[in-house]
Amino acid sequence: MKTNITSATLLASVLALAARADVRLSSGHADIGVGYAAGTFDLHVHQEEPEEAEFEPGETTFVVGDAARTKSPGGAFASGLGPIGTPSWVLPTSPSPDLPFIGFGTEELDPADWLGNIELTLSGATGPGNVVVWNVGAFGNANIAIDSTRGPGVPNGLSLLPGTHTHYNIGFSQPGLYEVSLTATGTHATDGAIRGAGTYRFEVVPEPSTWALMGAGAALALVAARRRP
Ligand SMILES: [Zn+2]
Repeated sequence: MKTNITSATLLASVLALAARADVRLSSGHADIGVGYAAGTFDLHVHQEEPEEAEFEPGETTFVVGDAARTKSPGGAFASGLGPIGTPSWVLPTSPSPDLPFIGFGTEELDPADWLGNIELTLSGATGPGNVVVWNVGAFGNANIAIDSTRGPGVPNGLSLLPGTHTHYNIGFSQPGLYEVSLTATGTHATDGAIRGAGTYRFEVVPEPSTWALMGAGAALALVAARRRP
């Protein structure tokens, strides 16, 4: 009897894990959060809307839908997003009903505990294209904080005040699946130099017509297959 209960409990845990393994965030407000626990930064996903929830980075996929499709402005963006007019996908700094609204939050950190800012640096990016993260200054000038095409040794990250929350544009140059690794570093007033890392998944979906064509192609192939004797 005890074994049965243990198996049932184990199965429930496995199912719960499986259910949480890939939470697809295609809309609503969610932040890449930096917390502090036991001498290390805890990078996570803090969902604010439609409901409060917290996830490990590997438990979620940010879905960058067709509403994100735009064109590269070229100039400083040419390296990451291609020459002016090149199709690109951007999650903006204002909420959109069909896109996840992603910010960067250090609200869990008490500013009194930290000397200076928390640096959130790009430590790796894999995917079919490039990743660019930027905000726009008071005079309309774009500050590109992260560009995955930058070489080693070039600053490539966000500088976040402890105890704050801010939003950046996040752009991608191609549809497909990306894994973006971020490393947080900072100086704790009593615990000294602190770091922590997390890898976040983004799925940039192709335009609907591509899906429709693929679907139609698959349906035709199926019909053809069924007609064969
Ligand atoms: Zn936010």
